[in-house]
Amino acid sequence: MMATRPRAERVEEVVIVGGGIAGLATALALHRVGKSCLILERWHELRESGAALGLLPNAWRALHALGIAHKLIPNYRIVRSGRVTNLETGSVQTQSFPESSDGEENGARIVHRKALLEALAEEIPQEAIRFSAKLASIRTEAGPDSSSITVLQLEDGDIIKAKVVIGCDGLHSVVAQWLGLAQAHDSGRSAVRGLAVFPEGHGLKHEFQQFLLANRRVGLIPLNNHDAYWFISHLTTPKVKELGRHPELIQREVLLNLAVDLPLEFKQMVEHSVPSSLTWDPLMFRTPWDIVLGRAHRGCVTVAGDAFHPTTPDLGQGGCIALEDAVVLGRCLAHAESPKEVDESLGRYVAERRWRAAAIVAASYFSGSVQQASAGVWTRPLRLVRDFLFYRFIFTWISRLTLFDCGTLPKVG
Ligand SMILES: Cc1cc2nc3c(=O)[nH]c(=O)nc-3n(C[C@H](O)[C@H](O)[C@H](O)COP(=O)(O)OP(=O)(O)OC[C@H]3O[C@@H](n4cnc5c(N)ncnc54)[C@H](O)[C@@H]3O)c2cc1C
Repeated sequence: MMATRPRAERVEEVVIVGGGIAGLATALALHRVGKSCLILERWHELRESGAALGLLPNAWRALHALGIAHKLIPNYRIVRSGRVTNLETGSVQTQSFPESSDGEENGARIVHRKALLEALAEEIPQEAIRFSAKLASIRTEAGPDSSSITVLQLEDGDIIKAKVVIGCDGLHSVVAQWLGLAQAHDSGRSAVRGLAVFPEGHGLKHEFQQFLLANRRVGLIPLNNHDAYWFISHLTTPKVKELGRHPELIQREVLLNLAVDLPLEFKQMVEHSVPSSLTWDPLMFRTPWDIVLGRAHRGCVTVAGDAFHPTTPDLGQGGCIALEDAVVLGRCLAHAESPKEVDESLGRYVAERRWRAAAIVAASYFSGSVQQASAGVWTRPLRLVRDFLFYRFIFTWISRLTLFDCGTLPKVG
């Protein structure tokens, strides 16, 4: 009988599970404060889900704190306002992003997700990212000095021991499940999105265009003069669930069904979309009370980004608040050495983040419900709010949440 080769065992200072926005940004924040870490990413490379995302002032403040905003800003133009056309009534409303009192630019920049991930990853030592490393399960065991060590079992059988674990493993986080956080809920809505590329220029005005139809909200927003991002948020039906990750099915469904009654300009965007950019996703969220009351930290283990507070994307905030988490984690862990100090620091991080995240999730859900305005008996009142109050007053008011400043990282060394 062949002897089984014993698996390697290491003890890492900090392990970050997941190399998405939250994982890379957290690794960079820790690197900036002089802490080394290992990122475990299940894919064989950095992988973006959805081609582009909107980054609002709170994200830019976090990116400045992380020292990489300057790498992205020159490539993306800021969008300060929008136009919302109700295709059923023909009415057009304007939409403005709130003004910041400290002179920080208001509005959004839509960036390529790949560019954001690469800008973060470039600043982290290459050996800090281990690809094709999928976390399967977690347990704890007693460490040498009666502290507890977290044992991470990977899908390939490898075992990694860590003093600190930060779960940045997204919506279906293994770490969140281990902590006992409640499952994310399905909002009943989904979104298809894509990135249209026009090498000769798309000719769009530099603004956020939205179209409202029964049960659908459609958005179109340029990144720069060549690329434009679009999305259709709609009610989930059994048919759209079959779209999965099949770009050709998504494009066909959009052109033949979801966008059939939309302006030609929009359909051209769909036709010019890069196939790999076409994605369909159900819109999920963790309830604000589960975020506030749930257990997001146990000993030296915590969560960040979607693993902590998945939100519907109706204020374009999931990635932005993942960047905020990273800065706060870097600040809290900067001077923590012993298990007791780490435990206390992670407690401070969760206390600082949970109300902020819960407010974002609640505001995003509200914003999505009003703008989509399709909720059974609530449909008519929601439409009245949307058509007469929301874009005029409420949007600018709740968008003030996006002006949040998560602060800076401490100087070390
Ligand atoms: C339709 C839509 C539009 C959006 N628009 C915006 C927007 O405009 N602005 C904005 O800020 N946000 C937006 N978001 C939200 C944003 O995409 C997410 O909040 C953000 O990607 C969260 O980053 P994350 O790193 O926490 O999670 P993820 O991006 O999900 O990354 C998790 C990483 O962990 C890895 N992983 C998962 N499980 C394991 C495991 N067991 N072991 C190892 N690795 C693992 C994954 O491969 C992945 O790389 C949108 C979301 C959707 C669905």
